[in-house]
Order: sequence, then C-alpha cells, then structure tokens
Amino acid sequence: MTSDQTFVIVGASLAGAKAAETLRAEGFDGRVLLIGAEEQRPYERPPLSKDYLRGELEREKVYVHSEGFYAEQDIELSLGRTAVGLNADTSEVVLEDGERLRYDKLLLATGAEPRSLAIPGGELDGILYLRSVEDSDALRERLERSSALAVIGAGWIGAEVAASARQRGLEVSVIDPLSVPLERVLGAEVGAVYRGLHVDHGVKMLMGTGVESIEGATAVERVRTGDGREIACDLVVVGVGVAPRTALGEQAGLAVDNGILVDDRLQTSVPGVFAAGDVANAHHPFYGERIRVEHWANALHQGPAAARAMLGKGGAYDRLPYFFSDQYDVGMEYAGHARAWDRVVFRGDPATREFIAFWLVEDRVVAGMNVNVWDVIDPIQRLIRERVAVDDRRLADPDVPLDDLVPAGAA
Ligand SMILES: Cc1cc2nc3c(=O)[nH]c(=O)nc-3n(C[C@H](O)[C@H](O)[C@H](O)COP(=O)(O)OP(=O)(O)OC[C@H]3O[C@@H](n4cnc5c(N)ncnc54)[C@H](O)[C@@H]3O)c2cc1C
Repeated sequence: MTSDQTFVIVGASLAGAKAAETLRAEGFDGRVLLIGAEEQRPYERPPLSKDYLRGELEREKVYVHSEGFYAEQDIELSLGRTAVGLNADTSEVVLEDGERLRYDKLLLATGAEPRSLAIPGGELDGILYLRSVEDSDALRERLERSSALAVIGAGWIGAEVAASARQRGLEVSVIDPLSVPLERVLGAEVGAVYRGLHVDHGVKMLMGTGVESIEGATAVERVRTGDGREIACDLVVVGVGVAPRTALGEQAGLAVDNGILVDDRLQTSVPGVFAAGDVANAHHPFYGERIRVEHWANALHQGPAAARAMLGKGGAYDRLPYFFSDQYDVGMEYAGHARAWDRVVFRGDPATREFIAFWLVEDRVVAGMNVNVWDVIDPIQRLIRERVAVDDRRLADPDVPLDDLVPAGAA
C-alpha cells in the first residue's frame, strides 16, 4: 500500500520504539527509520532509579525489545546519531554528520532532559544527574564508594534515588524548598506519608529550604542550605525536574509551549509531523486542555497512538494519565490529573502505608492513588472517567467495593 513512503522517528526510547513496532504491526510496509542519539538500543528508564540502580536487575532486562527485533521487523535503527536540523518545508531531518533524511511522515519522540542546577559549586566532582542508563551505571559505581549522599530535589527521581541509596547503606539527606516530598503532585497531606516513609528509613529530610551552594576543594564535601545548614556529603544527586527537548520543533517553526504542541491525534501544528511521549504537550479531550505527561505509561501508549495517526488510523488519544513509583517496600499507582482540589479522602489509614487516596473537586474524583493496595486502578479510573458523583463516606469505607460506586454500565 505505502511501500514507497519513508516514516522517520527521531528519538529511540520508549515512545519512539513503540511507535516503530506499531507501524509494522499495523501493516505499514514502507521504510521506518528510528534515529537515536544514545548508543543503547531503546530501553526503559523506570528501573534506573530502582532495582537496576541497586544492581538487582541485569542490563538485558531494561531494553524495550530484543536485540534482533529491529532487523526482524525491518526497522532501520540508527544509534549514536543526533538529529540537529529539521526543515518542515522540504520534509527533511538533518543529522549531526550532515546526512539528510527525507520523510513522508515524521514523529518527534525526543523526550526530556534533566534541568541543571546553576549554583556555586555546581561543577565540582561528585554531582550527578540521572536520565540515561550510563548515568545510572555511574551513580551505582559512586554509591559503592561513597558514604553520604545529598539529594537535591524531593520529586520522584530524588525520592527513589534516596530510597535506593539508603537500601545500599549510605547516609542520605534530601533537600527541597517545599514542605514535604512530592508536594507539587500529591499535596501536603499525601506528601507527608512519603516524608514519614523516608524518615522511618533514616533519611534526613530537610524540607522548606533550598540549596545555596555546594562546596569542596575539588570534589563535593558539603552542601550549604538556604537556611544556613551544612550537610556533609561525598556525593550529590540533583533531581530538580526535566525540560522537554523541543529544539528541533522550534527550529522548524512548530508551535511550542512547554513541549511540542499537538492535537488529540498527536499531530503538531505542521501536518504530517507528530510528537509523542515526554516532549508532547497534547490536547486531552477528557480534560479539554493540553497536558504534558512525563511518565512511562504515557510514552508507552502515545508512541503507538502516534504511529496509528501517521497511518491515518485510530482515534483521539484520551487515556487518563497514569504513573507508578516504588520506594523501599512501598509501591503506588496514581491515575488522573489534579492541578487543584477541594479535599483528599482516604480509604484506609495512611499511617499504615496501605491505603487509597482520592483527590476531589466538589463531589467528583479527579485523581486517585493506591498505595500497597492492588488491583483497584481500573475502578479508580472509571470513577474519574465517568465523573461519578460520590459520597465521601462511601468512598472512604473499605467495605463498599469501589465497583459499587461506579454506575452499572459505565465503561
Ligand atoms: C531514572 C528515571 C526513573 C523513572 N521512573 C519512572 C516511574 O517509576 N514511573 C513512571 O511512570 N515514569 C518514570 N520515569 C519517566 C519515564 O521514563 C519517561 O516518561 C519516559 O522515558 C519517556 O519516554 P520518551 O520516549 O518520551 O522520552 P525519553 O525516554 O526521554 O527518550 C527520548 C530519546 O530521544 C533521544 N533524542 C533526543 N533528541 C534527539 C535528537 N535530536 N536526535 C536523536 N535522538 C534524540 C534521546 O537521546 C532519548 O534516547 C522515570 C524516568 C527516569 C529518568
């Protein structure tokens, strides 16, 4: 059908790899070029702050596909090659070595990169960031020969690295200007559960203060906080968020605002050019607004959705945002999207670290999180998606099955 067409995917990570896989699964028999700046074939990042970082998971287990998959599927995987130019008028991608690739359809799956911390001492040896498998290898090697880690930033990466480092026996301090870890997403009440979890595992939680400087002769020796404390350490991990890699989109004149703007079919402002994963700020039909999601499940599902859209198939991408995290022996899943809420209702006692939290606006659940409680994410998603009017007492009562709160016949 389309055998003379070339589809180029820039970014060979989860979103890009799943898009390439889907193009073939949907029967596309033209050329598929998957271009990746990293030397590794596409891999998953969640283990990099968890079991892989702790040396409990072998490298082979992090890859998205087996080594032979790309050749078997006739996907031209080109690694260690960075796209440095995009001309949407001539439909060309330019690689670092000057090669020009003409495309019929293009997918930008360039992801995100860690924000760096511009403070005095930021160039000292022993300050690490975590995004790639090489970053995780380097951090694991440092964890083996360091005794005290300071984590700057108590978001997901910071919290998971802190947990892994404690499990490896290091002294760990976490510093963040907010009052509890993960406050931006979870709010103060639920963030406090994670604060307690880390404190119970012996982490020093320095909340409500920033970092003024990192000090040492040539390598890190201490971190100085905004409120005047000195934290002795021989290793620093910075986890202060990520920025979408939008450079190609900007260069080509695509609409960009906190990511590459795409519609609900993941098409950018230029027809034939699509974006998916961490880099895409996508119009979400359920929320009626644009959302950029920096989570694994979004890359996993948007990649295939973009591939189908490139083929003129499939409908609007309207999955509810979903993510997970594991810290110590506490696992959680979160579904939905809550920028603001009236209150949080707990089913189960948060102090036991086995509970479900619901974020509500008026009588509607806008997000839910199950902590060490499993097989409930489907009814949680149905409550959100069906915009069910709920009664707080029934929502909180573990004797009322969640399914009973969703009207019969709801999807
Ligand atoms: C340590 C860590 C732990 C995480 N844990 C969780 C978790 O527990 N739960 C969860 O839901 N999410 C987690 N995430 C987030 C999740 O991994 C990301 O959402 C996901 O990787 C996004 O995939 P992506 O394909 O959109 O982008 P990325 O994974 O960022 O990949 C983009 C790829 O594009 C390449 N690229 C960029 N620009 C170019 C260019 N110009 N030319 C060629 N190639 C280019 C990059 O090198 C990269 O390989 C974690 C992330 C990290 C870093």
